[in-house]
Amino acid sequence: MGNIRIKWVTGAALATIVAGLLVLGVINYFRGYAHAEVNQAGNLQKNQPENLTVEKEQSTKLVQVDKDTKAEMEWMRKHQMEAKKNEKQKETKTATEDSKPEAKPANENTKPAATPTKENTKPETKPTPTQENTKPTTTPIEEKIEPTDAGKKTVYLTFDDGPQVFSKEIIALLEQYQFKATFFMLEGNIKRYPDAVNLMVDTGNAIGIHGVSHDSKQFYASATSVLAELNQTRQTIKAITGLDIFLMRTPYGSKPGMKDAYKQIVFDEGYQMWDWTIDSKDWFYKDARLVSSVIKQIEEKTKKNEPLVILLHERRETLEQLPSLLDYLSEHNFDCKVIDGTMNPIHF
Ligand SMILES: [Zn+2]
Repeated sequence: MGNIRIKWVTGAALATIVAGLLVLGVINYFRGYAHAEVNQAGNLQKNQPENLTVEKEQSTKLVQVDKDTKAEMEWMRKHQMEAKKNEKQKETKTATEDSKPEAKPANENTKPAATPTKENTKPETKPTPTQENTKPTTTPIEEKIEPTDAGKKTVYLTFDDGPQVFSKEIIALLEQYQFKATFFMLEGNIKRYPDAVNLMVDTGNAIGIHGVSHDSKQFYASATSVLAELNQTRQTIKAITGLDIFLMRTPYGSKPGMKDAYKQIVFDEGYQMWDWTIDSKDWFYKDARLVSSVIKQIEEKTKKNEPLVILLHERRETLEQLPSLLDYLSEHNFDCKVIDGTMNPIHF
């Protein structure tokens, strides 16, 4: 009997332990599950803002990428245009095997910065010419470079591609220094800003022809096309100012476009072709570098006593930099004068 009792007690104890373990197991299982859920929920909550941030970052990146792409595309577009421009110039170079071996760097702006703000096509004619420019007896420019009695050295400022809306400002600035310049102008712009052309003449600045198309292929296509563009511009200038002008500069300079045969024909017509000796590359620099580059070239040329014919363009950025160039010239005892019909033209 005692044995049976012991067995029963032991059995009951074991059963209790097993039951206890089972209960613990079940509790643990559920606790674990519940914990897992909490974790999941916690993670979810925690992940929510993270995901948003990531998304936000991603979208910001996308916007940035989009901007970058646009900038890249814009750069590419410009680059391609530049490449095309160079290609064009190369084509012209190879097309016309012109004499001198040393190649000049790319010369001018291909874009004849246009954008007219006011249309004024009706030209006022001016019958009394203030500027004579016919059949000159030329004197070598070198004589004019030599210091004058006042010890001043002469510089010839030339502005191409105008007139422009701000031609007046350029002229006013020159007036402040009592300097004069020569403006080689495009026919379309002459028609757009006839008042500017008359102002140039009235203020004692010189005017010259720069053609119609400003497209090297079109302009230099033949002797006929060259002459036609020069004559058309000359007629327009005559209608506006009453002056018969023969000073001219061909687009991008005469080299290599102007073949000897073309030169012969335009010279026979009485045209005086001017290139330059100092290229500001203002269309490229667009900032203070255009001034420092010009000053450097002036110093080099002055040492060798070479003529100083400076190529500038009627551009907003050039106007902005002009005071510092004029300051330099004024402080270094230079005088800026017009190119006139009595001078022996300088060309490449
Ligand atoms: Zn030009």
